[in-house]
Parts: sequence; structure tokens; C-alpha cells
Amino acid sequence: MSVQGTILVLDGVATNRIMLKVQLTAAWYHVVQGEKLEGLLSLVRRTQPDLVLTAQTLPDGTAADVKKVTKTVPGLEDVPVVVLAAQNDRDARLRALQDGLDDVLTHPFKDTLLLARIRSLLRAHAATQDLQVSNGSQPIGFGEPAPSVIRPPKAAKVHILTHAAQTGVMWHKALNDQRQYSLSWHLQSNLQSVLSGAVPDAIVVELGAHPSDLNILADLRSRNVTRNTVLIGVLKDDNAVQASEALDRGADAVCLDGFCAQEILLRLDNQIARKARLDHMRVSLKKGLADSWIDPLTGLHNRRFAMRALDQIARESARTGSSFAVMLADLDHFKAINDDHGHASGDLVLKQAAERMRGALGTNGFVARIGGEEFMIGVPNVTSKQAMRLAESLCDSICSAPFQLLDQGPQVNVTVSVGMKMSQGPFPDQESPTPHIENLIKSADTALYAAKKAGRNQVNVRQNAA
Ligand code: GH3
Ligand code: MG
Ligand code: MG
Repeated sequence: MSVQGTILVLDGVATNRIMLKVQLTAAWYHVVQGEKLEGLLSLVRRTQPDLVLTAQTLPDGTAADVKKVTKTVPGLEDVPVVVLAAQNDRDARLRALQDGLDDVLTHPFKDTLLLARIRSLLRAHAATQDLQVSNGSQPIGFGEPAPSVIRPPKAAKVHILTHAAQTGVMWHKALNDQRQYSLSWHLQSNLQSVLSGAVPDAIVVELGAHPSDLNILADLRSRNVTRNTVLIGVLKDDNAVQASEALDRGADAVCLDGFCAQEILLRLDNQIARKARLDHMRVSLKKGLADSWIDPLTGLHNRRFAMRALDQIARESARTGSSFAVMLADLDHFKAINDDHGHASGDLVLKQAAERMRGALGTNGFVARIGGEEFMIGVPNVTSKQAMRLAESLCDSICSAPFQLLDQGPQVNVTVSVGMKMSQGPFPDQESPTPHIENLIKSADTALYAAKKAGRNQVNVRQNAA
């Protein structure tokens, strides 16, 4: 059973696989194994790994081929693929990063660093998965471009954070010569200059020997401004313990063995591209959530919102003892407008009616479109007299002026009927106010029916619960 996540280990040599499996199982990861490229696609689809650890060379391909395969699997495009290199060879490491691989580990694997890297990559991957949540029937962000199509910003904002000005200037020059980043350097003692400016896409942090150097990573990770910023730690030497700590405190990647411009640039490219995909998903998630409360035709809130809003209003009433009003409004003879002028004109009337009612209500509560030409209005903290005045101004807003169907086109007179029900006294304080709210809505509906029956274009108030 998967406890901490599923890791796919790919290696043609059985002893290597077994060694890793023992190490990873002891750390509560679920391990699945493969030995070659052939059959990888179906293995990945079946096991849905959270991370892939692959040998540099497989019997029938390379680590770069593995990345190419996982990138094509829907939902797994961002699964990190880590290369297990035979030796600590900087050229091989740079090649792997150039091929888009997410990290490189070299034999012999030090437990602490291996596990810290896995934790860091899994954490990043989990963030992606969280953003892929679905809203039930339809995934949020449905119909969005494939992740590979999302491009990082043209001039990503990258800060360099060093101890000494001299180092900052040197790193800035080395990185600036080779990429189109918008680069700036800052002293770690002046962190404020990073936090007070625009949100950076990435920060390259010098990690010296002092233990407090690591705190800066945790600090940056927890700040609002830099919460989603890529953090790359640059270590002086091959210090596995410090590298592990850096990853655990929030670094997305670490460069061992001192400053190497090429490696930092490759890591920046990979990480900034990943961040761009995450940012895009975040925006689309936010929009998806907002859309799920909105009626697309009128821009008013929808029934789902209305029910949640009434729930809150009722709870507030139970807490404060104030009363509130529920109203249902239904346009009169709306079918005739569609029949006489066409459905598109009917839509125009709905939009204008929505605007007018929103205007009439002002900041008093909410108006939502809950059906074709039906609206629900909730007004918190009102007396029945105030609510009655609001209901009448809703009616007036519709009948007081004709509706313009098209530029220079015909005008139509429209009216609306409103049924209203007041909550009686403080709302009962209980776990779920839903049954009481439903009763109020039923009463408002009965009042609406009475308003229609009495000739339309008027407000009817239901005095007592039936
Ligand atoms: P009443 O005064 O009794 O409410 O009469 P009515 O004609 O308004 O009521 P009825 O329920 O018979 O008709 C409602 C009409 O609203 C029928 C339907 O075609 C129309 N309708 C529902 N949704 C939309 C919409 O989104 N756009 C348009 N244009 N018409 C809609
Ligand atoms: Mg109706
Ligand atoms: Mg109607």
C-alpha cells in the first residue's frame, strides 16, 4: 500500500533496483520496478508513480527517453524523473538537466540526501496534483492547454542573494551573460529589499557554512511574497547533510560543489518552466472556482451561491438575533417576450433585469438567478418594513422604464412579481439551518404564486409559516 507515495525504480541491473527498494521501502514509500524502456508507457499508466528514479542508461534507452515517455502520459506530465548517475560527473549532470530531467543523484547514494531530494520532489509534485483537483463532474481547468504549451515568462525575475557584495556582483555577471532573465542581486542581510519589491520568479541563495543560512530558505518559503518562488540553494561543497537540510527547509533544488553558472541556469530554466505551469493552474483553479458561483448569462450569482449565502445569513441571524428576508422574483409573461421578439431578445431582457435588480438592492444582501427568469434575493439584518421597501423597489426597477431590445430597436414593457418571507425573530441556533431555510423558500414561493394570482407586478408577503 502506498504510504508516502509511489516511486518507480527503473534500472537494468537487478541488484541496483533491490538496493533502492530496500532503502525506499524502509522510508515508507511504495516501490514499483521496471528494467527497460519497452513497456514503460503501460507500466507508468498502470502504477501512476509520484516519482521516477531511473538509471542513466537502460538496456534499450536513456534517462532522457524515460522523461519523454512520462511527459506524454495525461496527468503525469509533471512527474519528476531523477537520474541515477554512475559517478559524480559534472558534464553528465549538465547533460541530464539539459534533457529536462528533474535532478541527478550520483552513486553511492547517501541516504539522507536521496530521501531529502525525494521529499522535496514529491512535495512539488503534490502541489501540482492539488491544483488538478476536480469539482466533481468536470475538472477545473478543463479544456486548458497542455502543460507543455505553457511558456515561462519572457524575462523571469530572478534575485541573487549572497553574503558579500563581491559574490553578488560576480554571480550576477556570470548569469547575466548567458540568459534573458531580469536579474538583480541583494545582500542576505538586506532581505527586506527582496520582500518589498515585485514577486520574484526565482531566488538563487548562497548557502555558506553558518547554520542560520538555512533559516533564510524556510523564511522565504513562508512569506507571502515568495511562497511560490523557485528557491535554488548554492552550496560551497559536496555537503550532503547541508543539502538535505536545504531541501527540507524549502529549496526546490540545490547545487553542490560551489557556483557553476551553467548548472544554475539549467536548474533555473527547468524550475521556472515548472513554476509557470503551476501559476497557470493556480489562475485557472481560481477562475474555475469563481465560475462555479456565477450565472454566465447575467453575471449574477447562481443557485449554488444563493443557498450557501442564505445558510450564512441564517447562521448570522442565529448568532445575533437579527431577522432576514428571503424573496423570490419571477418575470411576468416572459414566455411572451421570447415568442414575440425571439430568444436572443429574451436573453437581453434577462441581462438588463438582472442589472436593474442588482442596482435596486445595492449593498443589501444578494440577488441570484436561480432559474430561467427566476431570481432569489436574500437580505440580512432587516426589519419587515425595510424588506418590504426593498421588494417594492425591485418591482419598480423593472416596471418603471421599458427595456430596449436592440440599438434603435423595439422597446418592451416588463414587470416582475415578488414573493417574500421574513425569518421570524432570531433564527433557531442549530447544526444545520437547511430545513428552516427550505421552509422559508417554500413560503416565499407560495407568496410569489399569490402575487401572480393577484394580477402580477406586485409584492406579496407570506405572513406566517404554512
Ligand atoms: P408567468 O408570469 O406566469 O411567470 O409567465 P411566464 O411566461 O414568465 O412563465 P413560464 O414559466 O410559462 O415561461 C418562462 C419562460 O422563460 C419559458 C422559457 O422559454 C423562458 N426561458 C427560460 N430560460 C430562459 C433563458 O435563459 N433565456 C430566454 N430567452 N428565455 C428563457
Ligand atoms: Mg418562472
Ligand atoms: Mg415568469
